Amino acid sequence: MPQADDILSVLTDPALQPVAERVVRGERLTRPDGLLLYATDDLTGVGALANAARERMHGRRTWYVRNQHINYTNVCNKQCRFCSFAANIGGGGPQPYTMAVDEIRDALLRYGDAPITEVHIVGGIHPHLPYSYYLDVIRAVRAVRPDVHIKAFTAVELDQIAHVAGKPLADALMDLKDAGLSSVPGGGAEILSDRVHALLHPCKLTPDQWLEIARTVAQAGLPQYATMLYGHIETIEERVDHLLRLRELQDETGHLLAFTPLSFHPDGTRLSHLPGPTALDDLRAVAVARLMLDNVPHIKTFWIMNTTPVSQIALWYGADDLDGTVEEYRITFAEGRRGDVRQAMSAEAMVNLIEDARSVPIERDGLYREVRR
Ligand code: SF4
Repeated sequence: MPQADDILSVLTDPALQPVAERVVRGERLTRPDGLLLYATDDLTGVGALANAARERMHGRRTWYVRNQHINYTNVCNKQCRFCSFAANIGGGGPQPYTMAVDEIRDALLRYGDAPITEVHIVGGIHPHLPYSYYLDVIRAVRAVRPDVHIKAFTAVELDQIAHVAGKPLADALMDLKDAGLSSVPGGGAEILSDRVHALLHPCKLTPDQWLEIARTVAQAGLPQYATMLYGHIETIEERVDHLLRLRELQDETGHLLAFTPLSFHPDGTRLSHLPGPTALDDLRAVAVARLMLDNVPHIKTFWIMNTTPVSQIALWYGADDLDGTVEEYRITFAEGRRGDVRQAMSAEAMVNLIEDARSVPIERDGLYREVRR
């Protein structure tokens, strides 16, 4: 880990000095600290502090996973204004599709030779899919890849699944676990703010409901991931409060494995007039997350959203995970906008990217256990 004097010497904003001293002492940062980290012009200083926190936890190790994404349907009744993925019920948006369980099996078999250790499954909120569909999807993955980590269904989907199951979420989670579910992805929280919820995604879970589902996931003994969609209409205060609410949740449950800041891409959404975040915004989001979420083990830079060059730099701004080799991801750049849905990177390219950034690549599984081949 860098020495305290090295870190303090790179700061150009004297207001960061007390925050830096708290980081060096390993103390928890406060809400005003978070606001300052977002407000200061000294982004390099913020990055140096985040890197110190990162190196204290992980040294220069950087994690990646060989994974496959399955986005089983883009049919959705939630109408989120920031979404370019959904085919809205009643028309509008991309062509609707829903994968039959056999098609999901075929998609898995298409990469049957690839040494994938995680399958990541999310989709829209399709009002007519029966409960059995969700269980059959998990069972199909488990049948094709008995040892894979199955990370599936965000809190919003889990709410829908419990609804169509006609049973409490806790009971539905037990069924999903029995079918083979391993963990729950982080989407759906967006920004935990009632104001943003009312303006951008009023049909979806409220912040309190999202947190309640996260608690139920923890009680079910399932690990979960967390995210923050930023760069649309949210304020800096709302970003910091989002991080603080996740930190409180993690103090209570300890079940969050990693946090991913998700950079908003306005293209094709009902917010396409907005400029979207810059690379500097992306780096700051990673760095502030690392500094504020002192109890969340891993901070990801998702290379598809942040681009590979920015993700390399992010490894020096607090990120310790590049996410995955990612076969068939559809969400950020819907088919037809950026062409091919196959936005994959080979494991070799991932390793080179990490080594180029003077970090040590470690392949992991869905629970951050090292994979040795
Ligand atoms: S973000 Fe998710 S829930 Fe919202 S419209 Fe898009 S697919 Fe549906």
